[in-house]
Amino acid sequence: MFQKILIANRGEIALRVLRAAKELGIQTVVVHSTADADAMHVRLADESVCIGPPPSRDSYLNIHQIVAACEITGADAVHPGYGFLSENAKFADILAAHNITFIGPSADHIRIMGDKIEAKRTAKRLGIPVVPGSDGAVTDEREAKRIAAEIGYPVIIKASAGGGGRGMKVARSEQDLEIALATARSEAGAAFGDDAVYIEKYLEKPRHIEVQIVGDGAGKAIHLGERDCSLQRRHQKVWEEANSPALNAEERDRIGTTCSKAIADLGYSGAGTIEFLYENGEFYFIEMNTRLQVEHPVTEAITGIDLVHEQIRVASGGGLSVSQQDIRFQGHAIECRINAEDPRTFTPSPGTITHFHTPGGLGIRVDSGVYSGYKIPPYYDSLIGKLIVHGRNRVECMMRLRRALDEFVVDGIKTTLPLFRDLVGNSDIANGDYDIHWLEKHLAETE
Ligand code: ADP
Repeated sequence: MFQKILIANRGEIALRVLRAAKELGIQTVVVHSTADADAMHVRLADESVCIGPPPSRDSYLNIHQIVAACEITGADAVHPGYGFLSENAKFADILAAHNITFIGPSADHIRIMGDKIEAKRTAKRLGIPVVPGSDGAVTDEREAKRIAAEIGYPVIIKASAGGGGRGMKVARSEQDLEIALATARSEAGAAFGDDAVYIEKYLEKPRHIEVQIVGDGAGKAIHLGERDCSLQRRHQKVWEEANSPALNAEERDRIGTTCSKAIADLGYSGAGTIEFLYENGEFYFIEMNTRLQVEHPVTEAITGIDLVHEQIRVASGGGLSVSQQDIRFQGHAIECRINAEDPRTFTPSPGTITHFHTPGGLGIRVDSGVYSGYKIPPYYDSLIGKLIVHGRNRVECMMRLRRALDEFVVDGIKTTLPLFRDLVGNSDIANGDYDIHWLEKHLAETE
């Protein structure tokens, strides 16, 4: 087992990883920018190292400074959290060159899944169902038209190097396609420095359903069921739940088994998420994330398995603590992402939190790095906390969520709490009856 883990992140996820390391009896080092000197992760860690000025590229993305912090403190492993360097294959390579373990998959697997065309090819080869589309990058307009006609309109053009929902264009006809292809390519080139794009069938009303997997890197893998993350705004997840209200046990078992088998065959090591669009009973792979995800706690709530423990165990060579037969899905869990944003316009609302009171009681978990008197720096993302609620079934979970939201107090800044108080009382949400467009439509209607 590791002696000392360096956590290369900030905010709630830095605390989340710190908790797991402490439980496993591992020493913790955190890094921070000058803007985060007062952050909770700095206060709670065994050691901390300031690695640079506020902008992420000079601190949390500064590989040299992070490696130096490992060397100075003698950390033997790094947990990257999510975002920042968590899916940076070069970072994994550099750590390996310094004999420091990257708590995550191999650099090769990060690279494959970071290229969406390569990822899709790999998924297909491993028996994962994919969205019908081009078998690789498309540059030629005539070829694009031929493929689109073959799969049928509407189609979506996506950037191979894409991320965060950028560089995607829908075409509903051949006339649309010319413009969509040109704009998608120029946007992809500008945003990612790579103008390769590919074509897929555009699904009109899918749900976003993702499967949590963990592999041991030696041919064994488990799945921990799915999460439904269909409630999104501008491709950003807002509310996530497990299990999905749309799947039955047979479908869950089938897609889970397909994913765990694929991951085992790939020889994948660590936690990962295979993301699908789901429509009319069919799953369509869109991408794989090779890291811990923001919404992982809903899976932990219904399985009782600590995913960060598993990540650390696997990375240290200790293997998985559970096998598939041991995994049971109990009850229902919902996560709300609480952002420091205006609940109507979603503009960031940094500033000082004058009062912070979190709900408690049975079935409530709050993962947050903020506190009363904390000043939110304007440099990073606006997530200030996650409320995760567990109940014996979805109805109980929703009742508990409603009262937990009533208890939550954040004064001094604007937050998205009012949005969740609205959602929890909505009949479509109560019925689990929503797709990936539901939230944006709802927001437009209630404007
Ligand atoms: P990114 O990495 O940029 O987030 P994804 O491939 O994960 O890109 O897609 C982001 C979102 O775009 C999906 O969650 C979905 O809302 C939408 N999307 C992607 N592919 C399709 C498709 N073939 N049909 C319909 N919507 C899609």
